[in-house]
Order: sequence, then structure tokens, then C-alpha cells
Amino acid sequence: MIAQPKASHFVNGDWLEDEAGAAFEVTYPGTGEVIARLHAATPAVLEAALSGAVAAQADWAARRPVERARVLMKAAEIIRARGEELARLETLDTGKPIQETRVADWPSGADALEYFAGLAPTLTGETMPLGGDFAYTIREPLGVCAGIGAWNYPSQIACWKAAPALSTGNAMVFKPSEMTPLGALQLAAIFIEAGMPAGIFNVVQGFGAVGAALATDPRIAKVSLTGSVPTGAKVYAAAAAGMKHVTMELGGKSPLIVFDDADVESAVGAAMLGNFYSSGQICSNGTRVFVQKGIKARFLERLAARTAKIVAGDPMEEATQFGPLISAAQHEKVLGYIAKGKEEGATLVCGGSAGNEGPLFVQPTVFADVTDTMTIAREEIFGPVMAVLDFDTEEEVIARANGTQFGLAAGVFTGDLARGHRMVARLQAGTTWINAYNLTPVEMPFGAVKASGLGRENSKAAVEHYTQVKAVYVGTGPVESPY
Ligand code: NDP
Repeated sequence: MIAQPKASHFVNGDWLEDEAGAAFEVTYPGTGEVIARLHAATPAVLEAALSGAVAAQADWAARRPVERARVLMKAAEIIRARGEELARLETLDTGKPIQETRVADWPSGADALEYFAGLAPTLTGETMPLGGDFAYTIREPLGVCAGIGAWNYPSQIACWKAAPALSTGNAMVFKPSEMTPLGALQLAAIFIEAGMPAGIFNVVQGFGAVGAALATDPRIAKVSLTGSVPTGAKVYAAAAAGMKHVTMELGGKSPLIVFDDADVESAVGAAMLGNFYSSGQICSNGTRVFVQKGIKARFLERLAARTAKIVAGDPMEEATQFGPLISAAQHEKVLGYIAKGKEEGATLVCGGSAGNEGPLFVQPTVFADVTDTMTIAREEIFGPVMAVLDFDTEEEVIARANGTQFGLAAGVFTGDLARGHRMVARLQAGTTWINAYNLTPVEMPFGAVKASGLGRENSKAAVEHYTQVKAVYVGTGPVESPY
């Protein structure tokens, strides 16, 4: 299987190669096969991307919002028309099952393009009457934004950042994770096909140093990062030095709380989705599943039975529900956490080993009787490892759920809706669900509190993070001056 793009980068409306950049291989996690060979961006590639974006942005910003919207809508239409081809590429890039990439990755990216295409033309300023004088506000783009992506949802991340940025008149230089560099290149080419001017959306490849070069470049007005908390801290500090805007979508260790009165099948289904979808490589996963003691036995019994039926295998097979992890390093890390869970005394309910479907598989794993101090209850694993913890009361579970540096997401399952609302009001998380989990429609803000990040993606809230307000005072009479 070969998925070699025409070149490593897409800059100023065209494919661009510079073989002087460090060479790296892209492998298909399903088999470990090399599917593409690329080069990291050299300073010359970065210069071309940044100067091209700066040159193109002002004209793009000056267009009518409906003109920009038309291009984004067209791009979404192309993505939907090529859904199958793009899903296959996403599966090759990430190893996620084709049944996931067909419905979750590019389709959610297309949703974002459509949503922000619709929203941008409706954005207006305010007028403030001041007697004879008056003031008004203009919502302006920030300029050139840097997007830096993680490897778990590479195309969705590129679209989620590009859609609000571009619809409001910004340009973007996007750096995907070097493990999943292929989807964003397709997005850049699709934008050009849809009529976007050259230079508005550029993709440069590379490792952390390329991301760091973007975060420190004075031409970049904003950095939007999806990545881990340690990387977020570095990028935020670099951006602060240049007084740049940031959006940080970082890691989590989110609580999913199941009360005795919950619908067991729904709660089990949500816990499985929130731990095993994308082989657990999802930032907002509910990896600490707090189960009230009265429902524990039934919950674990159904969880074990349903987990045993998960179909792991070749990600390209229609029937496959569960694929490999992204890399050998991630595989080793996740197995290390499983070993810690066993060592520290958690009860292994199912899974607990490497899978035999391929080199990068880990079995969907459930630990019960997990306590708050165990490593698997404290650290982000980013793999298919669910920790089930017991609790008695609302007060207790709120305190324990909030007892973490992370604050990305939280979920509550209960038959008592009043309790659901009471709980989410007190949970320290940017994104919460009542009787649902991990649904992130573009209409709803997505983001974090505490160390899991700041800023919001999706929804009207994202507009605040890609625009700034200019105030205009208009004098209508003579200037009164004491001098
Ligand atoms: P990393 O933090 O390792 O990397 C994220 C991106 O930042 C990569 O493109 C990486 O490049 C780049 N990078 C690394 N160092 C720097 C630097 N100093 N300056 C600028 N850029 C840098 O995350 P992963 O790719 O390992 O992704 C997993 C993490 O992402 C998890 O913690 C997960 O929770 C989080 N995540 C958060 C989401 C959210 O929306 N909140 C969604 C998805 C994932 P390179 O890969 O080349 O090193």
C-alpha cells in the first residue's frame, strides 16, 4: 500500500518539496508497512509558507464573508463526494478502522467547514450611541494563525482549526503530527480546488522544532495546538513571549460517573465508546469510570460481556471495530500502564495484554477496584484502558472527579435529570455530557479548563478565538479641549 503524496508540503497553492529537510517515513499502523516518505520543512519551506500567508491574508480578509463562505462550502462538498477515498487515506495514516474514519473524521471536518461558512456572514459588530457621537466595533481576523495537530484525529483537527480561522478572514500555516501527515495535505489541495486563493491554507511537515518555529515567528498572530499538556505548556510559553493568542486543546483524565439509577446498557455503551473508540486514543475519553456501588456488579458484568465481543482486526475490513495504536512507542507506553495497573493491585476484568492481530494492537482492557492514587487513575494513558472506580455519594464523587490537574471533559449517567444538571454544574470540565458521552457536534463548544487547555473549538465560541474586536469612536461635533 502506497499513499505517497505529490510532495511533503503544500505552500502557496501548490505542492512543495525540499529534500534538504530531514527525511521521515509514514507507516500504516495496521501492518507497520511504510506508505510514504516525506521531508520535514526546512527554514526555506517555512519562509515560503509564512511570507505567502502574510501576502495572501489581507485580500482574503477584505472579501465579503459570503465569498469566503462559498469556498468553504465547496471544500466541504468535495470532501463529502470523496468520502470513501479520504476515509481510506485516514485509515492508512492512523490505523483507525474504516468504519470509524467513514463516519467520524472527515465528515466531522466537513461539518465544521459548513458550520463556519454559514456563521461567518452573520457576524456583525455593535453600535454604541454616545449622544451625538457614537462608537462601533468591527470584528477583525487576527492575521496568520499557526495550527499544530496531534495524530489521533489528524484531518478533523486540521478542519476544526481551518474552518473558524479561514471563514473569518485569517490565513493558516498548519503542521500535522509527523506520524499522520497525509490528511492535511489533501485538505490544502481541496481548498485550492474549491477556489481558495493560494497562501491561505498551507501545510508544512515536521517534528516539534517546526511547531516551535511557528510558535515563535513574529508573523504568527495565534497558535492553536492540539497535543499533550507538556507540549501545551511549552507552546503557550513561546506564544506568550510574542503576546500571541492561543487555543490549547490538551490531554485529559476525564470522569464518567454512573449512578445506580442509570440505564445500564447506555452507561456501558458510553463507557466503551469513551475508552475503546479509536483504540482509546481520544483526548476527551472518560477514562475514570466512577460507578455507584449498587450498580457495580451489573455494570461490570455487561461491560465484560460486551467488551469480549469487540471485533479487533485489519482496520480496512468492514467488520473491524477496533484497530492498532499509532506507533510502537505508544504501544509500549500503554502496555506499561497496564503492567502498572496489575502491579498496583487493580482487578483485571478483561484484556490486559498486547493483541495478536498485529504488532501495534493492545486488547481492550478494563480494570475494576481502581483507587484514586493508582497510576492508571491519575495519568493520561491514551490507549484502550478503562479504570472503573467505586463510589457511594454525590459529594464524594464530585470531589474525587475534580481531584486532578486535568479538566477537559466529564459525563454523568443518571435517571434523575435534576441530579445530572446539579452534577455537571460542579464538575470542573470544559465539555460535559448528561446521559451521553464523547459526542462533539460542531454546534457545541469543545474545550477545557485547568491544565487541559484554554480557548474553545467549534460553535460560535470559536469565533472569539480567531478574531479580535476593534473599537471605532466617531466624533460628530467640534472637539472640546482644555488647551
Ligand atoms: P504532542 O503534544 O506530542 O504533539 C502535538 C503536536 O505538537 C505535534 O504536531 C508535535 O510535533 C508538536 N510539537 C511537539 N513539541 C512542540 C513544540 N515544542 N512546539 C511546537 N509544537 C510542538 O501530542 P501527540 O501528538 O502525542 O498527541 C497526543 C496528545 O494530544 C494527548 O495528550 C491528547 O490528549 C492530546 N489531544 C488533545 C485533544 C483535544 O482536543 N483536547 C484532541 C486530541 C489529542 P511532533 O509530533 O512532530 O513531535
